[in-house]
Amino acid sequence: MANTESVEVTIKEAAHEDAGRGIARLSIDTMKALGLVSGDVVEVEGRHKAATLVWPGFPQDTGKAILRIDGNTRSNVGSGIDDKVRIRKTEAGYAKKVTIQPTQPIRLVGGEQYLGRILRGRPVTEGQLIRVNILGNPLTFAVAKVAPKGIAIVTDSTEIELKETPYEPKEGKREMAGDVHYEDIGGLDRELQLVREMIELPLRHPELFERLGVEPPKGVLLYGPPGTGKTLIAKAVANEVDAHFVTLSGPEIMSKYYGESEERLREVFEEAQENAPSIIFIDEIDSIAPKREEVKGEVERRIVAQLLALMDGLKTRGQVVVIAATNLPDMIDPALRRGGRFDREIEIGIPDTKGRQQIFHIHTRGMPLAEDVNLEDYARSTHGFVGADIALLAKEAAMHALRRIIPQIKIEEEIPAEIIEQLRVTNEDFVEAHKH
Ligand code: ADP
Repeated sequence: MANTESVEVTIKEAAHEDAGRGIARLSIDTMKALGLVSGDVVEVEGRHKAATLVWPGFPQDTGKAILRIDGNTRSNVGSGIDDKVRIRKTEAGYAKKVTIQPTQPIRLVGGEQYLGRILRGRPVTEGQLIRVNILGNPLTFAVAKVAPKGIAIVTDSTEIELKETPYEPKEGKREMAGDVHYEDIGGLDRELQLVREMIELPLRHPELFERLGVEPPKGVLLYGPPGTGKTLIAKAVANEVDAHFVTLSGPEIMSKYYGESEERLREVFEEAQENAPSIIFIDEIDSIAPKREEVKGEVERRIVAQLLALMDGLKTRGQVVVIAATNLPDMIDPALRRGGRFDREIEIGIPDTKGRQQIFHIHTRGMPLAEDVNLEDYARSTHGFVGADIALLAKEAAMHALRRIIPQIKIEEEIPAEIIEQLRVTNEDFVEAHKH
């Protein structure tokens, strides 16, 4: 029987355009092997089980046992890119009622209709996370209950109940909320690939390095202007390999923890070792570890020495990786840039037109765009914009559209989903936003 068979496939990232659609792309030959047609429901079994709709894979994937799913589905499956999972065809009934809870305290007015529309035609199961982006606000909801139990498809007559109390996952630690995934990073394909090659392998397979007698990289330095996606990359990698993530802000260490900076550094490294695999992200490292000849105080000198010692002392066979970011690479103590510390450096530059278009796409993903919106045009006319500028512009355009309907709105407190449903963000909104 075709529908009880399962095959093993390797997870790959979804195309940018597919993110948020709740679909899985499977090569035609794999579909055939499982007796699947487009639109069938499959169960994906990784660390957890999740159900998704099947769409035919891209021509270049034909002949490969690849499953392309987005970050949200990867979280639901509990597996990351390059992990192997089993898939099988599954029967799904129709949902009578679906109970949904937010993962953070937020009131989404009219959210039932909104979520109903997003989930329409999709299979849902208990515990599944649903990630949406409402006017630049990433929100995560969880399916708390499905009736009848099991995998069921949401239809127009499915009753959606949206509770206000935040969802508490039943099984221990499960990735929650506002997570960053590879599909959320635009215009940095090559850079992201380099970071992944350096970090994913040692974090996932430390035994390989041990067997080969090769020292895995301990640190990667990302340098480039602010707002280009350095933090985003660090978070996404940590999330995708399910690593513990600790952030350390250079300026904060120097001010807030002044006098206890060394202690704080030690604590962070300890926390990382205890929770390995871990990624320690040090933002604005230049403020912690400036060139020693330029350092006046004894305190600063000691902190640099401490950081060097902690990195040299990392003995977890690649299970702790430090990613540091700076926009002033030349200001960093050269000792940190050699000898198995941050000896890999990757430039994260200002995006080109194509990169900007991808970033525009990412930040308008959940928005109801009017016909006259042309992201390619905006990408061309925003020379010099970095990712953070584009994210802000998209958000302002959406707010501009919203203000046409409701002049007084505090979107941080209450999101009027049913109004957002009728809203269209137009070219004029983008033009006005660009003027600011
Ligand atoms: P950096 O660490 O380089 O200063 P961040 O990664 O913190 O910059 O970026 C700030 C915000 O700008 C991100 O949260 C995201 O919304 C947006 N952004 C920046 N770069 C990109 C990018 N390459 N793709 C998509 N969004 C981006």
